[in-house]
Amino acid sequence: MKFLSALSKKDLENKTCLLRVDLNVLEFARRQNIHPRVLAILPTIEFLIKNGAKVIILSHRGRPKTVQSSKLKVENYKQFSLKPFTEILSFLLKKPMHFIDLKEFGFLDKIKGKIRNSTAGSVFLLENLRFWPGEEKNDVKFAQKLAFLGDFYVNDAFAVSHRKNASVAAITRFLPSCAGLLLEKEIKNLSAIMKNPKKPMVVVLGGAKTSDKIGVIKNLYKKTDYFLLGGGLANTIFAAQGIPIGDSLYERKIDAGKIMRQFGKKIFLPADVAVEKRKILDIGPKAIEKYSKIIKNAKTAVWNGPMGYFENSRFANGSEAIAEAITANKKSFSIIGGGETISLMSNIKRKTPNVFLSTGGGAMLEYLSGKKLPGLEALK
Ligand code: ADP
Ligand code: MG
Repeated sequence: MKFLSALSKKDLENKTCLLRVDLNVLEFARRQNIHPRVLAILPTIEFLIKNGAKVIILSHRGRPKTVQSSKLKVENYKQFSLKPFTEILSFLLKKPMHFIDLKEFGFLDKIKGKIRNSTAGSVFLLENLRFWPGEEKNDVKFAQKLAFLGDFYVNDAFAVSHRKNASVAAITRFLPSCAGLLLEKEIKNLSAIMKNPKKPMVVVLGGAKTSDKIGVIKNLYKKTDYFLLGGGLANTIFAAQGIPIGDSLYERKIDAGKIMRQFGKKIFLPADVAVEKRKILDIGPKAIEKYSKIIKNAKTAVWNGPMGYFENSRFANGSEAIAEAITANKKSFSIIGGGETISLMSNIKRKTPNVFLSTGGGAMLEYLSGKKLPGLEALK
């Protein structure tokens, strides 16, 4: 795999970079604080600008519905448009930015002319890739259209690299390609944890997507000393053990009994929980105490998935305690990942040089499960 960090001005000046990033942040327009995912891509864009490249930023946002008849029709256009990011990225980069909308993308030659006439360091942002059906189909023709606009391709979207999409997979067939600064950090940190983590190693898993997390337990079982469970994942195992969970979030399809027989020795379930309206919505104070104690002594910690329904502050205690315990432990090298999980970190004010925030949710889980990610394979 090639890395952008190895390139310099002589390789990049006046070349046009198609930069795939992850701006899949839905709530930003309502909240004024900027999501860590957005901040995480700035160094790569700044590196490209500094070295005189022109940048076309590519990203998707949400799951818009597109209908391809004679004309492209996008439902909920406003909700999913990337247009609002023009302003926020301009502000962060202190640079004007040109937005390429759906209509303009129909005239590739025109866009190309505009890019040609722009000065070195110019930045463009393309509309939500998922507005075009070709993106998620990994359509070669769509990838070719994108590739037509640039001279080289950089993948800095770790969070999307587990998806076989045109802008992460097919596109590398048409352009010289490399990993961006953020993707490089993701791979280095995650692979370090998988190879030889310092012991004791603690893996904290919660959140909604349960099936993805079982793969992590399997793959990291030998190297891990404690798996601390919360969120929907804990509920799923409670249900399998015949413990009543009322209307709590859980996953039916998982054979949690088998998981406990295989891996139960290292799995910890919350000793108590917070309940409201027949739903388990957070781990309880005893669980918080126990989990925090284990994390305090760890030399390696990995966390993916909130411990509860943290969007309601009354059920954020568990997740906040985990964030606190991990960031307070200066002896541990830690990775915290997942879209929702890292949004919890904006409350932490202390400096945490020993904590790496992974921008990947599903991608981080698949990587830690030992799976090959199509986006990374495409760069090889
Ligand atoms: P991430 O985005 O960090 O990868 P997930 O997408 O797997 O994590 O899960 C995050 C979601 O899980 C959050 O919206 C949170 O509210 C929800 N969640 C966690 N625990 C519970 C619970 N016990 N009941 C309901 N929702 C929960
Ligand atoms: Mg999520």
